[in-house]
Amino acid sequence: MGTSHRKEPVLSLVGHIQQMIADLYSIPSDHRVVLGNGGSTTFWDMATCSLVEKRASLAVFGEFSRKFAKALTKAPFLEDPYVNEAEVGSACLPTLHADADTYGWVHNETSTGACVPVSRLDGASEDALMLIDATSAAGGLDADLSGIDAYYLAPQKNFSADGGLWIAVCSPAALERAERLCARDDRWVPDSLNLALAAKNSAKRQTLNTPAIATLILLASQLEWMIDLGGMTAIRERVAHSSQILYSWAENNPHTTPFVSDPRYRSPVVGTIDFDESVDASEVSAILRRNGIVDVDSYRSLKRNQLRIGMFPAVEPDDVLALTRCIDWTIDRLLDA
Ligand SMILES: *Cc1c(COP(=O)(O)O)cnc(C)c1O
Repeated sequence: MGTSHRKEPVLSLVGHIQQMIADLYSIPSDHRVVLGNGGSTTFWDMATCSLVEKRASLAVFGEFSRKFAKALTKAPFLEDPYVNEAEVGSACLPTLHADADTYGWVHNETSTGACVPVSRLDGASEDALMLIDATSAAGGLDADLSGIDAYYLAPQKNFSADGGLWIAVCSPAALERAERLCARDDRWVPDSLNLALAAKNSAKRQTLNTPAIATLILLASQLEWMIDLGGMTAIRERVAHSSQILYSWAENNPHTTPFVSDPRYRSPVVGTIDFDESVDASEVSAILRRNGIVDVDSYRSLKRNQLRIGMFPAVEPDDVLALTRCIDWTIDRLLDA
């Protein structure tokens, strides 16, 4: 771990991660796995500087999708994005616009537990870029990346590693767009937000500046575990099993309902469960926390009477079952009191 990130031990670690991500998603042979420091939030700024030419069209159905819309709105050199918005708990895709050069949406909305399919939007112009925020989808949900120009993620969700890194599977069209925009005189792009520069470093199995090596080691070992498990097919089955346990429990418990009412949009990796007014979800969460069962709170700003359960591949399906029993036990005692 003490060596330079420009020396072979780290180069081969980065190259190994790039190859495993490419294998896991069977990415098209001309796509590139690009990475850099800063996490998905930094990638939003990078897309703002390096990928959107003039105007984007976005889908917003939760807090993370809204944050990218905000980042684009702040850029003085871009027109405000078109925003197609669905109520939280539901989902939507961006709408088509003749002057949209970029389309963006979230594969799995971590704040609400809603997910949508990923494929090139029918009817979008051929040179429009499709950017998918897969931060909490990648490594848990499958996707065909052939029509997609940037499928970006961070290691701290399905990959059970640590934060601070962004990784994007980029198409040739995305990298050409980045080359062109970052070379323009009328757009100042800082090096840390220059996707073309990041891609040059990634082609040499490097990052622009020093990455956290421990994060790379954790990510590599989780990817190895996923591939040993049987790749995306096995992962899909595992998270389907976990989420089936959670959602069928929530449908059958008289005090709970899945927040995402349309089963097609229900995330297999982030489950959101609403409680009726007889049970205070934050009290359930506090009792669980005092007993060592942590981080099942709903997303703060949603302000719902809700629990939100991570069912990433590293989570044992049996633990999801055990959690539902602990919640039942807690509800029974609360209602008895
Ligand atoms: C967690 C998350 C982010 C933010 O990721 P950071 O690495 O913390 O910047 C963005 N989008 C989605 C969908 C997320 O789940």
